[in-house]
Amino acid sequence: MNNGKICVSVCAETADEMLRQIKRAEDLADVIEIRFDCLNESELNKLLSQINELGKQFNGKFLITFRPLEQGGKRPLEISERLKFWQSFFANKKSDNFYIDVEFDFHSLIDFKSVERIASYHNFLDFSVNFTESYEFLKQAKSEILKIAVQTKDICDAIGVWNLLEKAKSDNKQIIPIAMGEAGKWTRILGLAHGAFMIYASLETGKETAPGQVSAKDLIEVYRAKDLTPETEVYGILGDNTGVSMSPYMHNAAFKFHDLNAVFVPLQATDLDEFMRRMVKPETREIELNFRGFSVTIPHKQTIIKHLDFLDETAKEIGAVNTVKITDGKLYGFNTDAKGFTEPLKNCYGELKNVKIAVLGAGGAARACAYALKKENADVTIFARDGQKARNLADDFQIEFRELANNDFNEFDILVNTTPLGMKGKAEDETPAFGEQFQKVKLVYDLVYNPFETRFLKEADKFNVPKIGGLAMLIAQAMEQQKIWTDREPPMKEMSRAVLERLQ
Ligand code: NAP
Repeated sequence: MNNGKICVSVCAETADEMLRQIKRAEDLADVIEIRFDCLNESELNKLLSQINELGKQFNGKFLITFRPLEQGGKRPLEISERLKFWQSFFANKKSDNFYIDVEFDFHSLIDFKSVERIASYHNFLDFSVNFTESYEFLKQAKSEILKIAVQTKDICDAIGVWNLLEKAKSDNKQIIPIAMGEAGKWTRILGLAHGAFMIYASLETGKETAPGQVSAKDLIEVYRAKDLTPETEVYGILGDNTGVSMSPYMHNAAFKFHDLNAVFVPLQATDLDEFMRRMVKPETREIELNFRGFSVTIPHKQTIIKHLDFLDETAKEIGAVNTVKITDGKLYGFNTDAKGFTEPLKNCYGELKNVKIAVLGAGGAARACAYALKKENADVTIFARDGQKARNLADDFQIEFRELANNDFNEFDILVNTTPLGMKGKAEDETPAFGEQFQKVKLVYDLVYNPFETRFLKEADKFNVPKIGGLAMLIAQAMEQQKIWTDREPPMKEMSRAVLERLQ
């Protein structure tokens, strides 16, 4: 257990809706942030006049925020409007049940002494913030609690703000360091374990008041943020688009089932070399997070190999790694995709010997499929848009290759999609092949699992071609990862339920 607080931030345009959200937040929050800047101007006084009636049943505190647009608030606010707001708040307030959040530029304008005050600084635009300078500047506000929130593009952008935790400790200050955006989500999940005064959460998914916020329910139930400590073993999904990953739900469900002091977080890194250098390698890292392993995904499955100390035989033969285990600072690479891929396929189709299989794509997952199918003595052909990549993969496994270009796949028994086409996000409406191109095949298998029903699978439905989605493989490969990391039997039921709940 740590001593941190979860602050649920609520934001609505009317006082009545704000009150409804406050009521719902009471069960989850230690602190409820009321974002007065979200209210329509005409609703401000209505809520302010009820301020002392708020949360009679609530054991926590309220945090009052009235943030101007340039600091991440919902609307432009003149200095005069901000002054008027705070004067009305102090005129109405009777109890000590409040914190207030006052932006760094405003502290000298009002006497805020009679209430606990957070001095805050938000930067949504500049990725090259000088954190030490901003911190020293914020300290001049003479508040005991400092909050610095900065936007991140890549995971390493969060290092500077995170390392203020140490600085604040030595200055005897409380601090709330927030790296906004998907790439900074880990700071929100691990913050309390490392001494952050509190972390902000949304009331529910879809009601985020800042980029990268996690819902309070997920922080408590999925990530167990209040149970984490600096000794907690940290695992994570390492890729350049972690927001769509189901891995945090599956792996955290497994850690929770076994009651392990371990957590699995999104680690969104575009620059893998920098992530390894600044956050992982013991000789060069600038941060101590107790990393114990990674689940590796697009686009790092092959490029990660050069960073590893040891590579297991299967991963070496495949030439791609989807699992890293870290022991005594050494990185061990494995590949569980191959096993995860064949299990559902054989369950559905039966023996694969001499079965004609077309694999679309020539990336990390395709390599695992080629390896696994070769082991089963299937007759495999690789199709990729980049002829050279297809040739390289085909040469490595002594299989056929062709260029992917509006082909007819009807000569094959099975068609496998290992490209990201159809995946939630930009390519969601896309398919690597249309139904007319494969209506005679006996089975299609899409490795994409989010969304559950991809465009490619819908194309198969048009011609009643039997299909397998990527979910079965996802769960099978994740269970193998759990065995590698924990040496325990993974809880299949809990892991499946965790991911199904999200996808449905
Ligand atoms: P990867 O290493 O980046 O490989 C992706 C492959 O798809 C590359 O050959 C790439 O070609 C090709 N590709 C990308 N966009 C394309 C397009 N518009 N048209 C044609 N080809 C395209 O990724 P990966 O790790 O193999 O993963 C691929 C997909 O499989 C992802 O959606 C991932 O979520 C899924 N997957 C699922 C599971 C599971 O358990 N269900 C496991 C592993 C992977 P270029 O090289 O020319 O860019």
